[in-house]
Amino acid sequence: GAFADHTDLQSLVDEAHALYKDNDDGANADYIPVLAEVDSSLFGVVIITASGETFAAGDVDHRFSIQSVAKPFTAALVMEQQGVDAIRDKIGVEPTGMPFNSIVAIELNDQRSRNPLVNAGAIAAVSMIEAKDADARWAFIQDGFSGFAAERLEILDDIYQSESETNYRNRAIANLLYNYERLYADPTEANEVYTKQGSLGVTAKQLAMMGATLANWGVNPKTGERLIQKNYVDEVLALMMMAGFYDEVGIWAYQAGLPAKTGVGGGIVAVVPGEMAIVGFSPRLNEAGNSVRSLLAIEHIANELDLSLFKGP
Ligand code: GLN
Repeated sequence: GAFADHTDLQSLVDEAHALYKDNDDGANADYIPVLAEVDSSLFGVVIITASGETFAAGDVDHRFSIQSVAKPFTAALVMEQQGVDAIRDKIGVEPTGMPFNSIVAIELNDQRSRNPLVNAGAIAAVSMIEAKDADARWAFIQDGFSGFAAERLEILDDIYQSESETNYRNRAIANLLYNYERLYADPTEANEVYTKQGSLGVTAKQLAMMGATLANWGVNPKTGERLIQKNYVDEVLALMMMAGFYDEVGIWAYQAGLPAKTGVGGGIVAVVPGEMAIVGFSPRLNEAGNSVRSLLAIEHIANELDLSLFKGP
């Protein structure tokens, strides 16, 4: 295809890394205390194609917390278990136009959780997983994510502890949703499992393999295993296009034109359907909570290769 020239993809990844490695804009997230202590100079850029070829530059083997980048993958697992209508009917699929942890958005109308890529909808998605108890629900997520990454993923304990001690706002969100009958398990348990999911450690390479599974229409490029139905991938990508980039999703669509998901750990995964996943990892975030270097690197690659879904031939 158009990206068959692998030398070019490697040099493009190297170029994107070199272009932004000295950009010191933004700051680590600090509302989860240990995130503030992560080395701010870390920076990795990875492309994994739908056929599993990897092109990497920088700190691509450093484990960081997946945080909100988990959300589309949990939505995918729920779809796989219960079908796409379950997400639409029990959570919703509309963007909020508000911060990811908005409580105002929950109060706006009877949709409440709005979509599975904001905290409210993501906690609701976790609560929807059919499993006999919270441990089984967590095991389902950990196994599912490990399948997407094609490697066993484990919790970063310091992140989990730190966030568990400070996540009062998410506890409020879970309780509020439960009050409105838009949470489908015990709120304390659902929030604990949600916090574990965000504390999962991934490397940029592992995250790119997760994204490449979406790029490859639900089949993991490394194991060849089908993890989600082909006809669910477009719903996951639609959610990412509309709600994957916090309050900057509009400018991201405008400038990069790719479905993507960002997290406060500094990771971003963008998906070029049928072609590749592009991942950036760097801890410093802008005001909206998006990794500055990661977003610039992905945008550079997208523009160099004309990857925007909205570009003409
Ligand atoms: N675990 C974080 C939270 O719920 C994830 C937030 C994020 O990455 N935007 O606050």
